[in-house]
Amino acid sequence: MPRGSGAAPPRIRPGLPAGDACCGGPALLPRHAGRRPLLLCAALASPLRAGTAEASGSYAPLPRPLELRQVPGSEVYYTLGHPGVPAADNMGHTSNAGFVVTEEGVIVFDALGTPSLGWALLQKIREVTPRPVRYVVISHYHADHIYGLQAFRDHTDAVVVAQRKGLDYTAAGSLDDEAAEERLAQRRQALAPWVDGETRIVLPGFAFQLAAEIRLGGKRLQLLYAGPAHSMSDTMMLVQPDGVLFAGDIVQNGRIPFMASAVVNSRNWLRGLDQVASLAPRFTIPGHGQPSADPEAAIAFTRDYILHLRRAMGRAVAEWQDFDTAYAGTDWSGYDHMPAFAASNRGNAYRVFLEMEQEAFGQRQG
Ligand SMILES: [Zn+2]
Repeated sequence: MPRGSGAAPPRIRPGLPAGDACCGGPALLPRHAGRRPLLLCAALASPLRAGTAEASGSYAPLPRPLELRQVPGSEVYYTLGHPGVPAADNMGHTSNAGFVVTEEGVIVFDALGTPSLGWALLQKIREVTPRPVRYVVISHYHADHIYGLQAFRDHTDAVVVAQRKGLDYTAAGSLDDEAAEERLAQRRQALAPWVDGETRIVLPGFAFQLAAEIRLGGKRLQLLYAGPAHSMSDTMMLVQPDGVLFAGDIVQNGRIPFMASAVVNSRNWLRGLDQVASLAPRFTIPGHGQPSADPEAAIAFTRDYILHLRRAMGRAVAEWQDFDTAYAGTDWSGYDHMPAFAASNRGNAYRVFLEMEQEAFGQRQG
């Protein structure tokens, strides 16, 4: 489909072998271990909609605008969330998100935690470029990163891309990161009026297993699965040739991460942090907290916190302590002043306690 023509809805066309491209334009290349790459012409099947088609949003207005920052020397932009847990005082704006501008369109990474925030992000994109939004890549299916997808679904033809586990987010009874319906009900209370009865969950239009690559307008966007770690669907996006890494919630800076989920795997999480270090990005944008030009500095906080939990809870398991005794006997002075400590730390410690029990008794292979 030539650019700018037609009004067909976005669709994915699988199955063309590598090198058998349907045209020389942007392409999405999923890679599977032990298989030849497949070329999916997702973007080409997606009609391009210019900014004029996005004239009106129907979402509750935000009391404060988003602030946009630019990665020095690149066409990569991002907005930083507030450090606490999603609540009315921070408008539910706790996660980071960003976008990459190319000659052929825009790739967004994460959509923020309400449709209003997603709409605000789209307006920020429009302040930078009139080019169409081609993809929205999701770091993982948690409410604080995905509710803004609704605005992109309503006002762009972007393809939503996520790791395959993202497809399970709303599945009844699935072992996933958070019960989608209960979380939505909770956010309708906590984040009214920005999350309301009209808020709906948008699932991926394209899902990959281990890795994928988007080539668009001279950029290569490498999508790397790093889960299950913080969630089942943890994905990082490396922007080349810029060397900018959107790390999702594998990296969180200066804020106690949420780990109180049955799917959290702290051992894999540490591997994900090692992967960040080995990628040696020029600039790392975490899922929460401040970005950094030093990858070791970017991952230090998350790594130290996870290691602290694993050491403390691992020691308690080895000594046959019960959890309450272990928690009371652990030194939290390095963390108890931090955002989200009260909301998350005890639950995190309990989950890691269970994980260390499983590891000790050989029930879990990391
Ligand atoms: Zn998050």
